[in-house]
Amino acid sequence: MRPALAKILAEKTRQAGTNVKLGITFSKLENSENGVVVTFSDGTSANYDLVVGSDGLLSQVRKAVFPNAQPPEYIGQGVWRAVLPRLPEVNNTMMWVSQHLKVGVNPMSADSMYLFLTENRVNNDFIEPSTFLSGLKELLKAFPAPLVQQMASMLNETSLIQYRPLERVLMPAPWYKNRIVLIGDAVHATTPHLASGACIGIEDALVLAEELATKHTAELALASFQKRRYERCKMVVENSGRLAQIEIEGGNKEEHTQIMRSSLQALAQPI
Ligand SMILES: Cc1cc2nc3c(=O)[nH]c(=O)nc-3n(C[C@H](O)[C@H](O)[C@H](O)COP(=O)(O)OP(=O)(O)OC[C@H]3O[C@@H](n4cnc5c(N)ncnc54)[C@H](O)[C@@H]3O)c2cc1C
Repeated sequence: MRPALAKILAEKTRQAGTNVKLGITFSKLENSENGVVVTFSDGTSANYDLVVGSDGLLSQVRKAVFPNAQPPEYIGQGVWRAVLPRLPEVNNTMMWVSQHLKVGVNPMSADSMYLFLTENRVNNDFIEPSTFLSGLKELLKAFPAPLVQQMASMLNETSLIQYRPLERVLMPAPWYKNRIVLIGDAVHATTPHLASGACIGIEDALVLAEELATKHTAELALASFQKRRYERCKMVVENSGRLAQIEIEGGNKEEHTQIMRSSLQALAQPI
């Protein structure tokens, strides 16, 4: 799924006439009120009116511009994911919850579906990838539901099994300084409990483009961008965190449902 989305985005980016450079990063950012001089890892440098840091959870742009920003926090849960041939019963998202585990499945295309399982793990220990298949099968034994057991029996070495510890970041505003602005996971990496992290990152890009196109100065555009984005992204990160906490503590399922509902209703509002 992600490679398919990445391919679509890459094609559209090139079609839009963007000058794309692959395989390099920045080595220096000289940020001023009028622009940024970027030195790249291949030794070249260039001046830009605005630099947008969208380099994810472990953002090096965040580190360079806001050296005192809090690093990502591990939340005590990890997610297992796998891709399987789609079963006819799977027409929408389905979930099963046990005392300490949650398993679900999403249809992805006419012939594939995506299985996920959240596991509470106190420590963020490395899991050897060669054990992913046996590890996930073992965890799925906690779910007697026939459909879950059928999916467990379908898992094999080609199921693209992944394990990912869940970490989050919510950087306090402002997310910009002079002519460098941060968007996406670099400033609001959320756990996936509302399945909205990429969505709010895309919203950041749309709102930023809109503000830059309509405001007279970069300062006004960035201030307005910040105002429109902070509370919405904070809501996603904090509510996702609360959902994780309820799952870890085996807490109130009604509160879980209520947070899911109110968050998704809030996200359906115009940005
Ligand atoms: C288990 C899991 C499930 C998820 N499910 C969903 C979901 O269902 N729906 C949803 O909306 N979101 C989901 N998310 C969240 C989503 O994956 C992220 O929010 C999204 O990928 C963030 O996009 P981004 O562009 O900000 O960062 P990233 O996707 O991390 O991209 C950052 C990019 O920057 C590049 N980069 C990093 N450092 C440098 C550097 N120094 N120089 C140059 N390039 C650099 C990286 O190579 C990468 O290409 C999920 C996340 C997890 C962990």
